[in-house]
Amino acid sequence: MAADKDRAAYDRYLGMQRPITRRDFLNGMALAIGATLLPKHALGESSTLEAQDRPGYYPPTLTGMRGSQPGSFEVAHSLRDGTFWQSAGEARDTGESYDLVVVGGGISGLAAAHFFRERAGGSARILILENHDDFGGHARRNEFHLGGRLQLMNGGTMLIDSPTPYSAQADGLLKKLGIDPPRLAARCDDPRLYRSLGLGPAVFFDKETFGEDRLVAGEPAGDWRGGGKNSLTWKEFLARTPLAPQVQRDIERIQQGKIDYLPGLTSAQKKDRLSRISYRDFLLTVVKADPGVIPFYQTRTNGEWGVGIDAEPALDCWALGLPGFQGMSLEPGAAPRMSYTAAGYANGGSYRFHFPDGNATIARLLVRDLIPAAVPGLTAEDAVTAKVDYHRLDHSGSPVRLRLNSTVVRARNLPDAASAREVEVTYASGKQVFTVRGKNCVLACWNMLIPYLVPELPEKQKQALHYLVKVPLVYTSVGIRNWTSFHKLGISSVRAPSAYWMDVSLNWPVNIGEYKTSARPEEPMLLFLSRTPCKPGLPARQQQIAGRYELLSTSFETFERAIRDQLARTLRGGGFDPARDIQAITVNRWPHGYGYEYNPLFDPEWPEAERPNVIGRQRCGRIAIANTDSAATAYTDQAIDQAWRAVGELMGKA
Ligand SMILES: Cc1cc2nc3c(=O)[nH]c(=O)nc-3n(C[C@H](O)[C@H](O)[C@H](O)COP(=O)(O)OP(=O)(O)OC[C@H]3O[C@@H](n4cnc5c(N)ncnc54)[C@H](O)[C@@H]3O)c2cc1C
Repeated sequence: MAADKDRAAYDRYLGMQRPITRRDFLNGMALAIGATLLPKHALGESSTLEAQDRPGYYPPTLTGMRGSQPGSFEVAHSLRDGTFWQSAGEARDTGESYDLVVVGGGISGLAAAHFFRERAGGSARILILENHDDFGGHARRNEFHLGGRLQLMNGGTMLIDSPTPYSAQADGLLKKLGIDPPRLAARCDDPRLYRSLGLGPAVFFDKETFGEDRLVAGEPAGDWRGGGKNSLTWKEFLARTPLAPQVQRDIERIQQGKIDYLPGLTSAQKKDRLSRISYRDFLLTVVKADPGVIPFYQTRTNGEWGVGIDAEPALDCWALGLPGFQGMSLEPGAAPRMSYTAAGYANGGSYRFHFPDGNATIARLLVRDLIPAAVPGLTAEDAVTAKVDYHRLDHSGSPVRLRLNSTVVRARNLPDAASAREVEVTYASGKQVFTVRGKNCVLACWNMLIPYLVPELPEKQKQALHYLVKVPLVYTSVGIRNWTSFHKLGISSVRAPSAYWMDVSLNWPVNIGEYKTSARPEEPMLLFLSRTPCKPGLPARQQQIAGRYELLSTSFETFERAIRDQLARTLRGGGFDPARDIQAITVNRWPHGYGYEYNPLFDPEWPEAERPNVIGRQRCGRIAIANTDSAATAYTDQAIDQAWRAVGELMGKA
């Protein structure tokens, strides 16, 4: 009873009862529509009843549970569980016929439509089907109007940045869309903003792990959000933490020591050895650090791979710049037994640019290219503030149509794969099931679903597709009244190595076109929070499966309480009041996040042709397969390259 009262009082302090924007109104509406109304293509074009055609339909401004929002995945899950066809009514033939039907409205699907039309000509008829209520896939836009001012955040795909340089096709597509990353970075990034205000990175030590809550500003390692001006030396920084003296000494040694922990081995031999042990094991058994250092480093790899240092090879961590290797004379560059990401970054990586809504601007520009009437404007800069007209996306007058809230449940070669002339694509929208036909079909959707969509695939290919378990993660956008607490504390980003949210930071400062970043601490601001629900100790794929279940069973209320609790505890010293200061919350939950990337600690060293993604992406009749899953990576350039390959398989080499 007393505990209940305490909890209620704490909830009041946190502001759990406050009327902020957190509810997903559209989803409720979409479900109601699905249950009672028919899509317009079943009723005739004059109907305006389809969800995306409703007045005011504008998903970027929705708050609450987003990402894979409720209503977007249930059909796919019932298909997986074998229950969909038991309850589905008979599919109704829409009578629609296209040159290409694309499954998945992410960057890969949109790029496939672009490449197909480029080769087939402007009159080619294309339909894109997407199960979410918005297009872009992971490249999702979160749009807020705080204090009357537009503020944007990426709900998923954060920036143009890849381990390898963008290919001729991917770079060429960006150029056609008006995106020149180096030029935009030079003109629009404002990396000095936070530093000029004396703000920099900090670490939050939580009492559950470190015995007390303590925020320590001035972590010497600068981060990509700037900072560093008030940096301390490692000794000074560590002295302010609640870490035991021996742990402090060992962290200082890991960060700054110039020790060769594997003397007598060549660089190649060291790299091989480091590729076979986790970074955690490296710290404990090679560096022989106190186990108390582990919580400080545990989540340093989560942002990149979705799992912690227990499941990532030490060699990959070296390539990503983690400390401890300074004295080991490792030759620069990639080596055998490295992951795609690590090998790429070891060799340099690509150009970088962050739009205010992340790569959602790329998706918007692709939609503008395909359906000009839907996205007003002419340049990459003006796409950032353009208001997309969702009503124009699925219009009979347009050769390219984009249909949201539509989960594809089957793609069938007709008459069969060997002599296919066309593909019948069946999709569910609300409680209705419809068919359309396409002379070609690109499945740019999540590859692990494809065995259920195309039962005629060979068993070996299905097994390969099942292997590609995606990485779960959550990106959360929190609108706050002002950021004076950050200013007072001298911080712009907070790493919280063992807390619920591993990362809390002020929005990325970028000024582009009409869009201006929040530059004064008295103004409203968006915070970025991230969480990777992995389960340290298990093999990486098991961690990802367990994390996905955790995400799907976590309520919005649980996320919200964790946000308020952590911000309150982190920012208390700056005068932050969670009940007063938090104005809006959007939780972008991605149970199926990053595409699966092979991990040298757990995956066999397959020859290229035997890799699950290569076996899995084989064309079947008139059906080709795209998406980053087909590349076994999670990068936008690969989403585009896979679209290029898939279209090439259907149309012949360009
Ligand atoms: C949180 C997060 C952050 C990321 N950050 C970056 C980054 O900074 N830089 C970077 O390069 N990459 C990043 N990525 C990787 C990102 O996945 C790719 O860059 C790219 O956006 C993937 O595009 P895609 O089209 O291949 O897949 P997706 O974006 O996943 O699109 C596939 C679409 O198909 C839909 N779909 C699935 N099944 C069906 C069906 N049966 N019927 C209809 N539609 C279906 C899905 O719902 C989805 O919308 C990030 C990913 C995540 C999750």
